[in-house]
Amino acid sequence: MVTMKMVQELQHELQKDGHVNRYRDLLGLYVSGMVDEQIATVIAEHIPTCPGCRNTTERLRHAHQERQRIERAQRVREKMVASLQRTKFLTAQVAAIRLKRSP
Ligand SMILES: [Zn+2]
Repeated sequence: MVTMKMVQELQHELQKDGHVNRYRDLLGLYVSGMVDEQIATVIAEHIPTCPGCRNTTERLRHAHQERQRIERAQRVREKMVASLQRTKFLTAQVAAIRLKRSP
């Protein structure tokens, strides 16, 4: 539960020197869509005003997209392997049936 006080504290903290490094983890959660809506709003409003956070967010977003791309590729690969194994199994079953039927 995000309180108004937390939102105000964050807005205040984001004005301080060195905040980009202190809030890198939060920016990472932000690009992953894992922060509360009110916090996301504070960050979204802050980013256009702060080159440091803008650059960091860009890099984190790129890394996040790359991670998602890799995960998608892994899921496709797993499906293909599963499908191939099913095909192999069925081919073996069919071969076994044919063998039984042959005189
Ligand atoms: Zn900033």
